[in-house]
Amino acid sequence: MKKYTHAWLSFMAIKRLEQSYISQSNQKYSSSLIEWFKNHNDDVIQGAWYPDAIIKDMSTSHIYKFTPSNIGNNYYGCLPTSYNIYREGKNSALYNTYFKLDSGNLPYRCEAIAHSIIDNLKMKESEDKGSPICPTNNHIANLFFMLSHYIADAHVPFHCDSRKFSSGVDIHAKVEGIWEDYVKDHYLIDQNNKDRFEYDGIYPKFDSSQQISYNNTILPWIDLEIQNRNFYITWGSGNDNVLEFMQDICHYSYLCSHLFIPTHYDHLSVTNANWDQLQNNISFDDLSKYILIDAIDSIARVWLRVWRKYQQWL
Ligand SMILES: [Zn+2]
Repeated sequence: MKKYTHAWLSFMAIKRLEQSYISQSNQKYSSSLIEWFKNHNDDVIQGAWYPDAIIKDMSTSHIYKFTPSNIGNNYYGCLPTSYNIYREGKNSALYNTYFKLDSGNLPYRCEAIAHSIIDNLKMKESEDKGSPICPTNNHIANLFFMLSHYIADAHVPFHCDSRKFSSGVDIHAKVEGIWEDYVKDHYLIDQNNKDRFEYDGIYPKFDSSQQISYNNTILPWIDLEIQNRNFYITWGSGNDNVLEFMQDICHYSYLCSHLFIPTHYDHLSVTNANWDQLQNNISFDDLSKYILIDAIDSIARVWLRVWRKYQQWL
């Protein structure tokens, strides 16, 4: 995904926590997390783009790529039942067939940053003000935004499929470019500082002159889902932590890749003319909707659980 898409997803994750029904026992954690973000949301664009701009671990930690196989693993695991990529993935002909991991460590990266956030929050709580090892809230917020980046990337099918869709006509960049335009065309970016949105409250400000264009995109559907879709805090049956949850996200992302670009196609047979009509089992619009709302949900879930773990330690 690209720069503004990543930042927008981070904001939408907070909106999801604010607008969806969270069970009574988790409400206090959600409320305090939202409140904390309201005071530390200035550097979302920079933070959510840090992995691409500064860290540059794209070929390892932004991916977890699989290929169909005769041996290996055929356990795909379970995601929360509201997940679109879970429902669609289970319809794939590859579901329950063997796959092997070719490259990447994305779920481990997510687990590591999640731990690091909790550690930094504990250090901040424990250290005296002015201590040289006391992390700042802005530093911790930046880690949250970086974590958001890696979580979002896992939902992009091309990040979990070994076929080389960044080669040839680069379908990967083309698809991510369309999502980036959704964000850039409908939300206002501060013209004096391109690393900031204009704000409406704490969220990116909608460009009302683009209402008609907006109505013709998938964005209204996503907005409704942010409010209405059930929010389950579970990692999915059988999963106990960020690592296991993110591994299953990657498994279903791989299956969705094969639904969208059928198995016998590769980067040499996909062109700019045929990329979205390859007898695919899922339309581009549906794929986009499902990926983006599931990514928002995942960021919200991981953030909330990380925050809750810290709060319970307090
Ligand atoms: Zn990335």
